[in-house]
Amino acid sequence: MKKKRIVIIDGLNTYLRNYIVNPSLSTNGNPIGGLKGFLSSLQKLSRELKPDHLVIVWDGPGGSQRRKTVNKNYKEGRKPIRLNRSVKLLSEEENIKNKVWPLAMAYDRFGVNENGYPTLLELELSNECNLECLMCDGFLSSGIRKNRDKLPKLPMHYNDNFVEQLKEYIPHLEELRFNGGEPFLHKIVHKICMLVSEINPKLQINFATNGLIYNKRVKEILEKCDIRMNISIDGFTKETYEKIRVNSDWETLMKNFKIFWKYLLKKNQAPSVMVNPMRNNWWEMKDAVRFANKYKSNLWYNTVHHPSHLALHNLPIEELKDIHRQLKKDLRELEEENKYYTSSNTPRDYLEKRMANIGKFKMFVNNQVVGWINESR
Ligand code: SF4
Repeated sequence: MKKKRIVIIDGLNTYLRNYIVNPSLSTNGNPIGGLKGFLSSLQKLSRELKPDHLVIVWDGPGGSQRRKTVNKNYKEGRKPIRLNRSVKLLSEEENIKNKVWPLAMAYDRFGVNENGYPTLLELELSNECNLECLMCDGFLSSGIRKNRDKLPKLPMHYNDNFVEQLKEYIPHLEELRFNGGEPFLHKIVHKICMLVSEINPKLQINFATNGLIYNKRVKEILEKCDIRMNISIDGFTKETYEKIRVNSDWETLMKNFKIFWKYLLKKNQAPSVMVNPMRNNWWEMKDAVRFANKYKSNLWYNTVHHPSHLALHNLPIEELKDIHRQLKKDLRELEEENKYYTSSNTPRDYLEKRMANIGKFKMFVNNQVVGWINESR
């Protein structure tokens, strides 16, 4: 009888070896060398060794538990991995600031189901975008790539064949996310949503959008699918908003926001408001709280590191202290305004949302801005 050949692969080791040396980036600038190299390694091994079975072994939760039982100093003193390419290894704090972990952590919540399928899918299918926001780049905005970077269009890799391939995965999903450019502009996003409405209509679909596109396709998506929305708004006056979000229009945003708000209200939801506090809008952060409270929305602050001339964290310490003093005043004003709601018969869930939004502003003022001041001492 012919003996079977089984190849056993240390999954994490193979992934890391590739991640360290492979500088590949996705079309939107995310490092994908680990995954790409990992798959190439598997292909090479299969080609050369022609195994009957290929077994990939991953560390379980906690990693190397058995070895640590034998030797509690296992891997003690090992140096952190160094990338053999021109990408800076981020410290743990930088990772958190860069939202690597918060994004990755979503996959702890949405694991692989009992059939071996992923339950969360995040798609960034194209950089086609109607705006050229000051803090964005050409990987995310086709307009910036063309007009600011003077570079040719990025190729579109996704077509009907890709939509067809998704049919296998959609029934297993618990959440589907569409990110930028502007996903409501992408015809393929509409096709995927229609497919979802046929085969898994209860699937929650999250859109990261600038809120400026509302047309027949968007209307159909809203009517047929279970949608959530994160709408990016970086200014709360026409002047500030339009200066930052180049090519935008404040009146259109307000009109569309109300339309989206009404759709989501039917599902007892509201759009979330995403804000990037920067040098050119920090004084309107209190208005972000008021806006989110008015529409019973959740407010989220991002941290801007790039471009550095718009970031707050690298301002001279005296400027940061002035900003902090003004923001503290704004915080007191917001807390004062909120007293009316705490002493009236405000529904509990609305009051909690208001408190949460003020709490986020408080964290921004007392933790983040104070942290930057302390770092610059
Ligand atoms: S809307 Fe989003 S993707 Fe488009 S330019 Fe602005 S930040 Fe970039």
